[in-house]
Amino acid sequence: MSENHPDGFLRHPRRPIGYREPASRVADFHQIYRFRWDPAQLRTQGERCMDCGIPTCMAGCPIGNIIPDWNDLVSRGAWREALARLHATNNFPEFTGYTCPAPCETACTLAINDDAVTIKDIERAIVDQGWEAGWIRPEPPSQRSGRQVAVVGSGPAGLAAAQQLNRAGHRVTVFERDDAIGGLMLYGIPDFKFAKHQVARRVQQLRDEGIEFRCGVAVGEDVSIDELKARFDAVCLAIGARRPRDVPVPGRELQGVLFGMEYLCAENRHQAGEPLDAAMNAQGRRVVVLGGGDTGADCVATAHRQGASSVVQISINPPLPDTRQADNPWPQSPQVRQQTYALQEGGEEAFSLNVAAFLDQDQDGRVDALELERVDWKRDDQGRRTDKIVRESGIILPAHKVLIAIGFEGPEAACLNDPRLTLTPRHTLEADARKMTPVPGVFVAGDASRGQSLVVWAIGEGRDVARQIDLWLMGASRLPASLSTPYPPLPPKGL
Ligand SMILES: Cc1cc2nc3c(=O)[nH]c(=O)nc-3n(C[C@H](O)[C@H](O)[C@H](O)COP(=O)(O)OP(=O)(O)OC[C@H]3O[C@@H](n4cnc5c(N)ncnc54)[C@H](O)[C@@H]3O)c2cc1C
Ligand code: SF4
Repeated sequence: MSENHPDGFLRHPRRPIGYREPASRVADFHQIYRFRWDPAQLRTQGERCMDCGIPTCMAGCPIGNIIPDWNDLVSRGAWREALARLHATNNFPEFTGYTCPAPCETACTLAINDDAVTIKDIERAIVDQGWEAGWIRPEPPSQRSGRQVAVVGSGPAGLAAAQQLNRAGHRVTVFERDDAIGGLMLYGIPDFKFAKHQVARRVQQLRDEGIEFRCGVAVGEDVSIDELKARFDAVCLAIGARRPRDVPVPGRELQGVLFGMEYLCAENRHQAGEPLDAAMNAQGRRVVVLGGGDTGADCVATAHRQGASSVVQISINPPLPDTRQADNPWPQSPQVRQQTYALQEGGEEAFSLNVAAFLDQDQDGRVDALELERVDWKRDDQGRRTDKIVRESGIILPAHKVLIAIGFEGPEAACLNDPRLTLTPRHTLEADARKMTPVPGVFVAGDASRGQSLVVWAIGEGRDVARQIDLWLMGASRLPASLSTPYPPLPPKGL
């Protein structure tokens, strides 16, 4: 199909849409990515794809996006066809086109010894174009199955499951504990990484397809699993994994020591027009972020936008090496030190530091410093930390606000007050290969099933669980599975 550009990568250098300048973007809460892109530039970027015999990019993409096809279609200016190809595997390409860390690009064949194709930006461009041109419309099913499904949780997993199940003809109701639909896409990921009108227009599409949304309903409290089972033929739990990991050291109770998630969510709500509680405002404050991961980076970037006087991001681990190690070959994601978008905007990072205590030196009930120790770790053969070796202790770091962003420990209302729902040792909801929990007809998807992960995995999980539910309800399903699923579709018993 793409004979006319096998050497595109020799003719065109990689030119992504890219980010806005750090000094300019840090002054506002608008998206960090460049607002506009040039269709001609994106076409040449599509031409850089070689249409390899074995498209390793697709294996790198958790939902198996058919990347070479849409690269080729974009290179020919066939944007609408590219959009159809993209939607075949991804319900919400703008969710990923804006937020995905793009494991497809590190798996791109060109990345062996050249710059990868700008896959993520091409995805964004296709779906931007789709919305702008009015090509993305409701697609209600032509026939109804007579079956009803409850989806609990409205993050990307719940929404993808709901759309797939609805398109299979089932009547779908989404129950959401929060006051609005979107999960972490709405209250979690900062506005400058993902603008919230992008959630609202998808929710409208889903409503127009016939999906019903019920906000302010906490399943397990307001309605039990058995009550849902009595009213619906199947239930899908897509409740996320938002219980934050804590730092249980002396001084944890001090004012100013917050979970990063509470802080980020408060700023999301502020951007949506709600007042910002003073406790959630870092203006003029010295901020220390605990945790070197992505949530930590979002806290750093938010603190800068609020006007923090200084921001330090602390990691308990040593820094990653500057170059790829021999035991981390292509197409694996390179485990190398990279400056995050947040630290490009300012702030410092520090490594191998463990918190011994939160201090209140002036005894006013508020944190004013951290006591840290410099540590090394003994690790087991899986690379997991075992014993701590303290190299230096008593390090004092001033802090007015400490944001804890060291990971998550599974669903908040873990078992939804139902003793039949149990957790695995990894704090995920127990389920079989069909994604069915020990309660017949009750399925699980997304972070609740995998642990805190990525938007793209959540969409894939939602697609997979929809297929499993459809199989369970109807005995057969035309819904596709997500191609990289760890739960390959199994025929239901008796087939
Ligand atoms: C700060 C932050 C930034 C992130 N940034 C990125 C990023 O840039 N790129 C990326 O790929 N991933 C990112 N992630 C991860 C990504 O957001 C998640 O993996 C994804 O949202 C998981 O989707 P989900 O649908 O499983 O769960 P969630 O998005 O967590 O949605 C779960 C929903 O269930 C609802 N719920 C929970 N319990 C109940 C109940 N009892 N009754 C009713 N409703 C309930 C919740 O209110 C929530 O709306 C980020 C995560 C965080 C925390
Ligand atoms: S969803 Fe992520 S991994 Fe898949 S093609 Fe898009 S950017 Fe790449």
